Amino acid sequence: MEIKIERAKTLKPKPAANTELGFGRYYTDHMFVLDWDKDQGWHDARIVPFAPIPLDPATMVLHYAQETFEGLKAYRTKDGRILLFRPEMNARRFANSNRRLCMPELSEEMFVEAIEALVSVEQDWVPAEEGTSLYIRPFMFATEAAVGVHPASSYKFVIILSPVGAYYPEGVNPVKIYVEDEYVRATKGGTGFTKCGGNYAASIAAQVKAEQLGYTQVLWLDGVHQRYIEEVGAMNMMFVYEDRRIVTPVLNGSILPGITRDSVLKLGKHLGYETEEARMDIHDVIADIKAGRVTEAFGTGTAAVVSPVNKIRFQGEEIGIGDGGIGHITQQLYDVLTGIQFGKTEDPMGWVVHLK
Ligand SMILES: *Cc1c(COP(=O)(O)O)cnc(C)c1O
Repeated sequence: MEIKIERAKTLKPKPAANTELGFGRYYTDHMFVLDWDKDQGWHDARIVPFAPIPLDPATMVLHYAQETFEGLKAYRTKDGRILLFRPEMNARRFANSNRRLCMPELSEEMFVEAIEALVSVEQDWVPAEEGTSLYIRPFMFATEAAVGVHPASSYKFVIILSPVGAYYPEGVNPVKIYVEDEYVRATKGGTGFTKCGGNYAASIAAQVKAEQLGYTQVLWLDGVHQRYIEEVGAMNMMFVYEDRRIVTPVLNGSILPGITRDSVLKLGKHLGYETEEARMDIHDVIADIKAGRVTEAFGTGTAAVVSPVNKIRFQGEEIGIGDGGIGHITQQLYDVLTGIQFGKTEDPMGWVVHLK
């Protein structure tokens, strides 16, 4: 793919080393843009100054939400190199999302090449402080201006970058979660397995409700029986049993196949734990927590890597998990996975991609 580069005339000041980066507060100087239409297919790959995208008020994405996205990070090693973590998995998931939403597919090679080209132009933006990284947000949306429901005839694929802070500046912090038994996030046959904006729009009401009740995240149950555990917020959910088994809900079409989820399952096995994907009835899991058979619980996702859960509220009752702190196995998985991502420990699975 030939990528034209138009450099920004003035560069933004980079946040100082001691700035609280947060998440999604700062954006870099450039973005990647690629257009698609029926006649030309993908064309006009370019890296241009970061700027607003003007849209006709009839642009289809604003009305029918034909939009998909991805999320991954670039990590700086102690000796200054830049690493990506399993970007080909994001490429594959993006293609699956686009297929489901009748949007054009981008090849794995083009997706990864676009990310590498943009991160390479913006390499000075990859922060170096402990735990910080450069968040990469690729997305695609329908650009045809027509208020009629059909697959759009034109799309834009864009990548933006944001330096982000350590998710846990004061050490990994356990959260309280709320089992949602009214709203559902996704159902069988729907778009739960895709990363599309519409899934998030539908999830906000439950998130607001959980926060009002004093909880950090929503534990989602399945949309058919409202009985089987699916995800926690925008993370996959894992439980550790007293026999050192790591168990997560089996992918069923409405659960998002997280790359962190897949990595934790593979790494868990590599570290000698038994891992299992199963249909998990919330009633059984609650009983197992009460009986002490579940000793640790955590969410997994690119932003936090692992997010330990120490309290769970179900049908008006709050139940503690483990001793209230981060569990040993959760901590070990966090340390080994972030060690691989930041190039601190060896990479037994060959997951890391070095930026040239
Ligand atoms: C992105 C996402 C995840 C986590 O996926 P990772 O690839 O691990 O970052 C989990 N659930 C939902 C709903 C998501 O959108």
